[in-house]
Amino acid sequence: MLVDSHCHLASHNYSSEELDQVVANAMDQGVTRMVTIGTDLEDSAACITLAERFPGVYAAVGIHPCSVTEIDAEDWSGQIEQLANHPKVVAIGEIGLDYFHGAPEGWTDEDYRDRQMAFFNQQLELASRLGKNVIVHNRDRSEKDRPCWNDTLQAVLPFSEKLRAVLHCHTSDWESAKPLVDRGHLISFTGIVTYKSAAVVLEAAGAAVAGQFMVETDAPYLAPVPHRGSRCEPGYIRDTAECIAKARNESIESLAAHTTETAEQFFGLS
Ligand SMILES: [Zn+2]
Repeated sequence: MLVDSHCHLASHNYSSEELDQVVANAMDQGVTRMVTIGTDLEDSAACITLAERFPGVYAAVGIHPCSVTEIDAEDWSGQIEQLANHPKVVAIGEIGLDYFHGAPEGWTDEDYRDRQMAFFNQQLELASRLGKNVIVHNRDRSEKDRPCWNDTLQAVLPFSEKLRAVLHCHTSDWESAKPLVDRGHLISFTGIVTYKSAAVVLEAAGAAVAGQFMVETDAPYLAPVPHRGSRCEPGYIRDTAECIAKARNESIESLAAHTTETAEQFFGLS
C-alpha cells in the first residue's frame, strides 16, 4: 500500500475519460490514496471535483509560484480559503518559489520574485490560520548556488510552530534538508531518484530518516525509469519506491509502511 503524496490529476495531460483508467492503474499497483495538487484557482477547484469523484483521491488547493502573475482576482486568498474548507482538502499547495523559469513578459525578475514571495507568505499565513499543512515548490537554476532553496527555507522556518511543510521533489543531498526536518518538516522524492544522472538524490533517499520524507510522482511529470519520457501516472510510484527501498536496504513493504504513516500524519488521512 502506497500513497502518492503529490500528483496533478487535473492537468490537461489527462482527459476526464482517461482518469478512470489512471486511478484504476494506481489501485492495481497498491496506490490506494493520492493527493492531487492545485496550481491556481481553477485547477484547485478541479482537484476538488476529482476528490469528490474518486474515494482514494484527496486534494490540495493553492497558487503555484509560476501562476502568480496570472491571478487577477483581488480576493484570491478568500477563494482559496473557501475551497480549503472542503472535507477532502488535506493541505494548502502548491505554493512556494521558482527561480528556474524566467519572468513572464512585462515583468522584471525582481518584481516577479517579489510577487511570488508575497503569494507564498500570504498562503503560509492562511494555512496556519486554517490549521493546514503546506506543499511547497522550490526550484533553482543550478545546484551549485541555491538562492531559491535558501529563500524558501527562510520563509518556511518561522512558521515551524504553526504548521508543517513538505518541500517536494528534493534534488539535493540529505544534509541540506537537515535544518528543515529538524523542525518537523518533510521532504519528498520523485522519480528523479531512478535517473542515472541523479546519484546524489538517490543517495539522499538512501540516507533519509524514516518519518522525515514521503514519496511522490509529480505526475504527469517526472516519470520514473522505465517509463521515463512518457506521461507519468500515480501507479508508477511503485518504480520509485522500489528504487528507494533498494538504496536503503529495506523491503518495499517496510518503505511503504513508514512513508504511508508519514503521509497519513502529514495530511491527516485516516
Ligand atoms: Zn507539483
